[in-house]
Amino acid sequence: MISMVEFFRNLPRKKCSKCGNDIVEKADCYVNLCDNCDHPAL
Ligand SMILES: [Zn+2]
Repeated sequence: MISMVEFFRNLPRKKCSKCGNDIVEKADCYVNLCDNCDHPAL
């Protein structure tokens, strides 16, 4: 059995498709943009 923590830890670190910054895990993880590039104002 693998714990949920280990499962998420084994996931590859996501990178923003725009600026290449690491993406902080959030609910809408299908978005490949960091918080900066995902801002509606941009
Ligand atoms: Zn970005």
